[in-house]
Amino acid sequence: MIFRQLFEPLSSTYTYLLGDEDTGQAVLIDPVIATMDRDLAEVRRLGLTLAFTVDTHIHADHITAALEMKRAVGSKIAAPAHDRLACVDLGLEEGRPFKVGGIVLQPLHTPGHTDGHFAYVLAGRVFTGDALLIDGCGRTDFQNGDAEALYKSVREKLFALPGETLVYPAHDYQGRFVSSIAQEKMRNPRLGGETTVDEFKSIMASLNLPYPAFIDYAVPGNRLCGVCPPDLPDKLAGYCRQMTHSPQG
Ligand code: FE
Repeated sequence: MIFRQLFEPLSSTYTYLLGDEDTGQAVLIDPVIATMDRDLAEVRRLGLTLAFTVDTHIHADHITAALEMKRAVGSKIAAPAHDRLACVDLGLEEGRPFKVGGIVLQPLHTPGHTDGHFAYVLAGRVFTGDALLIDGCGRTDFQNGDAEALYKSVREKLFALPGETLVYPAHDYQGRFVSSIAQEKMRNPRLGGETTVDEFKSIMASLNLPYPAFIDYAVPGNRLCGVCPPDLPDKLAGYCRQMTHSPQG
């Protein structure tokens, strides 16, 4: 299998490219609209065809490239069935493996950051979305977030995976790329070690994070599988599609 970890710097998002050499099919997990031309070029450069985009959840900090990639190269859109988005071609559910050529992802419902959040397990790796970050986790104060649910998702589902499973998060803000289940179980300051659910709830309640700059545009846009709003203020223009070639030529 071909594997690439791609980075979108404005929202510090990781996009994961999985390629099946036998069928030439590729999957992108959490592609970002701002970097879609770069990511499609990478798929092409590797000699692959994009079969599916897959999102872990309805993002609040960037716009998914799912819909624009479908328009550009005919890829299908997979996303958690839980969110019931009309624009999705394939709704993913726990217990139903998602197969693209030789690539097999096991969807795991991991609510808490959002209620419809999913992680995806792939032999030896887990794409944890915003449920589990390196030494951290996604916030739980928007989008039906629920600290108790997140505690259970991480401790009962993600931490039940083999310790050597590599953890690939949806974001990192400090230049870290990968962790492991064993390392997060031991070291994660919010969710690791002996932390109790009440301790976790009080940590999450006292974070005092600012209101997300892009959420009011991102969530409605992502409920449509990735539509940039027409009324985007200039200071947020970087969140939308960056054309490699200008339409004027
Ligand atoms: Fe998120």
